[in-house]
Amino acid sequence: MLYLKNASFLDWNTLRMRSGTLAVEPGPSGRARFLKRLPPGARALDCAGKIVTKSFAIGHHHVYSALARGMPAPPRSPKSFVDVLKMVWWRLDKALDREMIQASALAAAVEAAKSGATFVIDHHASPNAAPASLHLIAEAFDLVGVSHLLCYELSDRDGTRRSQQALEETDRYLERRQGLVGLHASFTVGDELLRRAAAVAERHETGFHVHAAEAASDEEDCVKRCGMRVLERFSRRGILDSPKTILAHGIHLNAKERALFRKSKAWLVQNAESNLNNAVGLFNDAGLGDRLFLGTDGMHADMIASTKAAFLTAPALSPLGAYRRLRRVHDYLDSNGFEGDGENNLVILDYRTPTPVTGANWPGHFCYGLSRAHIESVISDGRLIVDRGRVTRVDEEKVYAYAREQAKRLWKKL
Ligand SMILES: [Zn+2]
Repeated sequence: MLYLKNASFLDWNTLRMRSGTLAVEPGPSGRARFLKRLPPGARALDCAGKIVTKSFAIGHHHVYSALARGMPAPPRSPKSFVDVLKMVWWRLDKALDREMIQASALAAAVEAAKSGATFVIDHHASPNAAPASLHLIAEAFDLVGVSHLLCYELSDRDGTRRSQQALEETDRYLERRQGLVGLHASFTVGDELLRRAAAVAERHETGFHVHAAEAASDEEDCVKRCGMRVLERFSRRGILDSPKTILAHGIHLNAKERALFRKSKAWLVQNAESNLNNAVGLFNDAGLGDRLFLGTDGMHADMIASTKAAFLTAPALSPLGAYRRLRRVHDYLDSNGFEGDGENNLVILDYRTPTPVTGANWPGHFCYGLSRAHIESVISDGRLIVDRGRVTRVDEEKVYAYAREQAKRLWKKL
């Protein structure tokens, strides 16, 4: 049992603040509760002057991009979103081998933990090293102590042999672990693969994780090839029927698709910084309802930064609206029975501020004051995984040294 004393605890949902001593149980369904006093002889983390609240979950991430930071620029500058994929990401993911995937996953897990994220929903691709890739990522995340919901992004872009391997990897992984069936995006997934992916999802009683309407070209391709728009296509395949399904981006959804989404059970994840980076347009929540949460799309692991970006790029979104959207991922995970995001996942914030903090003004502090630098310690499944800025379960220097070594190998192959 982990004890926190003198804690100012901020309930993520009710935004009520309460001070006292907190007992945090270990394990996937562990609880956190207030005690009248510390049990005799118990050791406790002193949280005097700190704010304790629920840790974060990254709603859409790409572990495979962890070694991309600072990599050489493509031979010419990309002219479109599809160009960015072909010249940057699909070159990179094809070059990944087992060691690089492992290094990416370890580095991504350390970055997530240090950013206060104890749960990562990832979308992985490594076309020339698909077998066992999800297991490798899961092991790395388990080692660091970060919970996860993984998938492999199925695609026809590299031919049927590769998509078959990816389907088998998905099927094998879902036999043993919680996860989703990943699809890259409508424009790289043919009808046959879509049908087979749906069969795998049905067999494992899970949902999908897919990029949808990220760029206008995804919609244009779908209209040309299938005679309908992306969400109409997904809807006909039953993809939107699962409350576990996650659509990423949704920038170019039209009014009819927005109505279709709203009537469905699926969720949508906004990735404001990635959308700015790829110049695909700004996210607009009009007509989408409130099954929306936030991701980083592999750019980083900092959900405080993602919340600020969502807030700053949507003129009609209040700080409270942005904060609620950050936190909706917990409802997604909880209502679907996914493990690893219970009450015993917490961040301890060393947030000194010149103005008063209350539950009511917390969203304002979140959007204008708080940053990753204020994250002091992180508790995942009741265990301390970051202690005063340092990860506790792996040697951070060794993880980064290994990642740099693998990054050099990867960049040489590009
Ligand atoms: Zn993505």
